[in-house]
Amino acid sequence: MRQNGIHHVTAIAGPARRNLDFYGRVLGLRLVKKTVNFDDPGTYHFYYGDETGQPGTILTFFPWEHVAAGRLGIGETQETRFRIPEGALGYWMHRFVERGVRHEALERRFGETVLPFRDPDGMRLALVAVPGLEATPGWSNGDIPAEHALRGFHSVGLLLRDATPTAAVLTDVLGFAEAGREESVLRYAVDGASGLAVPGGIVDLRVAGEFLPSRMGGGSVHHVAFRAADDAVQAEMVRRLSENHGLRVTEQKDRNYFRSVYFREPGGVLFEIATDEPGFAADEPVSSLGGTLKLPRFLEGRRGEIEAVLPAIA
Ligand code: ZN
Repeated sequence: MRQNGIHHVTAIAGPARRNLDFYGRVLGLRLVKKTVNFDDPGTYHFYYGDETGQPGTILTFFPWEHVAAGRLGIGETQETRFRIPEGALGYWMHRFVERGVRHEALERRFGETVLPFRDPDGMRLALVAVPGLEATPGWSNGDIPAEHALRGFHSVGLLLRDATPTAAVLTDVLGFAEAGREESVLRYAVDGASGLAVPGGIVDLRVAGEFLPSRMGGGSVHHVAFRAADDAVQAEMVRRLSENHGLRVTEQKDRNYFRSVYFREPGGVLFEIATDEPGFAADEPVSSLGGTLKLPRFLEGRRGEIEAVLPAIA
């Protein structure tokens, strides 16, 4: 079945251990893969998701021990949002207070209740209460009850100078349709335009006139990846990007758990198109995802050297 939406979001973090503690323990996401940055194997690459790491639930990090903080600017992802069941809102507000998680007052956006918060690197995150989501199973880390667990992404919000060319790529290539407007925010969604039937079904475009230039660093989103079921669907998207939008993509890169092409969308945000296949169970069973350091075949011969330079996280 052809399914569109966000595949994963990749961000830059500070110390690896702090990142594991926040996303694994405080937010209760499952570490579904512990590997390295294939282009920089002295750096970890952590993948968090739901129980099986399905597309639309995957938040990934490159943690750097001494990273400088990023600064949000135009052409960047402003906020990354997770879905929670409506009944879990009180639990999370309480947990954020108890754990000292920096958060703001509840907001109403597009008729939904939103709880904005930050991770230890200042990354802008939010929980969005979605009615009826109780029926979608959650994964428990043993501390947070499954009923309150995060249920994958709700959306990303992109900060842009002009929404039009980015919207054209979302609608013509990536399977989104316009779903609403609220002040300076345009909402795009998949799946009959509610975007709530699948995780990662919504992208918000916020148009902001003047803003300081961005600086990538700790807490910055590096890129947003969108789903393609397989290589054929990805190739068709690449063709449309080129023919209809004049956009060139990188050659396809094998990321072991998906195959990817990358391009900078017209608003300046780095986009990726990642295949749903083969998924995170490609090199370890679902029951033990994330348990040990996994390396792609071309780096396996350097395992000893790589393990020696990676920061201790135990
Ligand atoms: Zn990616």
